Amino acid sequence: MAQDRFQAPDYYQLDELLTDEHKLIRDTVRAWVKKEVSPIIEEACQKCEFPKHLVKGLAEIGAFGPYIPVEYGGGGLDQISYGLIMQELERGDSGLRSTASVQSSLVMYPIYTYGSEEQRKKYLPKLASGEWLGCFGLTEPDHGSNPNGMVTNIKDKGDHYVLNGAKMWISNAPFAQIAVVWAKDEEGVIRGLIVERGMKGFTTPETHGKWSLRASATGELVFDNVQVPKENLLPNVKGLKGPLGCLNSARFGISWGAIGAAMDCYDSALRYSKERKQFGRPIGGFQLQQKKLAEMITEITKAQLLTWRLGVLKNENRATPAQISMAKRNNVNMALEIAREARQIHGGMGITGEYPIMRHMMNLESVITYEGTHDIHLLITGMDVTGENAFS
Ligand SMILES: Cc1cc2nc3c(=O)[nH]c(=O)nc-3n(C[C@H](O)[C@H](O)[C@H](O)COP(=O)(O)OP(=O)(O)OC[C@H]3O[C@@H](n4cnc5c(N)ncnc54)[C@H](O)[C@@H]3O)c2cc1C
Repeated sequence: MAQDRFQAPDYYQLDELLTDEHKLIRDTVRAWVKKEVSPIIEEACQKCEFPKHLVKGLAEIGAFGPYIPVEYGGGGLDQISYGLIMQELERGDSGLRSTASVQSSLVMYPIYTYGSEEQRKKYLPKLASGEWLGCFGLTEPDHGSNPNGMVTNIKDKGDHYVLNGAKMWISNAPFAQIAVVWAKDEEGVIRGLIVERGMKGFTTPETHGKWSLRASATGELVFDNVQVPKENLLPNVKGLKGPLGCLNSARFGISWGAIGAAMDCYDSALRYSKERKQFGRPIGGFQLQQKKLAEMITEITKAQLLTWRLGVLKNENRATPAQISMAKRNNVNMALEIAREARQIHGGMGITGEYPIMRHMMNLESVITYEGTHDIHLLITGMDVTGENAFS
């Protein structure tokens, strides 16, 4: 990628809604992304490689478990800080943000919220420091939008469980030391377990051939009679509300992250429109290009307001799952549309790695599908306002 000249748009002076601590955290992550991510991310994506060397830096800037209490190695920060960290990381690349989202909201969150004190002490500090990466196994080959149909199962064998089944599309799987896995017990109740790399019968084959999130490692989790000690069961949750609680937290972060990708596309398109001349004048002087740019900044500003308010509600423990769905759905779709329009403003150059546009666009095709598809989030809003379930 050409030199990173990113300047964040703040059309409604929303910085005034942030505390000094929020701005410090945001600016620290922004500077880290400029220095460490921008120079290498294009090549990592082209080669379809997860930039493992960034894991330590992610831990150092506090991207792993920002809102987990300090005593367990987390940052002890509020939800707006978490959102801002995700925004800045996704400004760099959605794959990098995915790694941090999974680690924080899908691995550390369930261990902190549903785990025993022993589990918290054993796993959280190692995950916060980046010594260990974790992954989250919910989706199965035949059960994506409907995780309740899962067939992965555990059988009680006295001092341990025997785990069988398979998960697919699992971010971080190929490198993860632990997996938080959701499986049904003999009564058909969904339970969470911590499965460790090295347990006999547990393998994590990598998924190849992705055109999206190429700098994030994706894989399967295969369980062939894996013996999982009883102390690895998450004791404090039963049923689908376990994984859904994790997804709520991750979706909140994604709604902020998508703004980062959108801001990067807008910023690049705005600069290009001023520098690129056709017919003897900058293309930014043509009404058709101005329409695109004006609509982009309008949508970014609306999304910024939505997430800020959602962050306030989440800090007060008042954000509902349906409100989080609305923000995830709106903001990811907004970012994807902005990426497509920005690609057009860049003309042919928009398809090259000289600019971040095409990479963001491809990444966002995953982001609009994972953590609940665009359709599913609409159904959640529909159910919330009508009281009628249109899922099944
Ligand atoms: C790169 C990547 C990383 C991922 N990482 C993880 C991870 O770390 N952990 C994890 O557990 N999962 C992960 N996922 C899986 C992701 O959450 C699923 O892909 C997603 O939930 C959709 O499931 P599916 O792909 O099986 O699609 P399906 O559920 O088969 O859906 C196919 C289409 O049907 C639509 N549809 C389904 N049901 C309905 C309905 N009732 N009404 C209307 N339309 C419907 C959907 O909206 C979609 O358009 C990841 C996926 C990707 C692509």
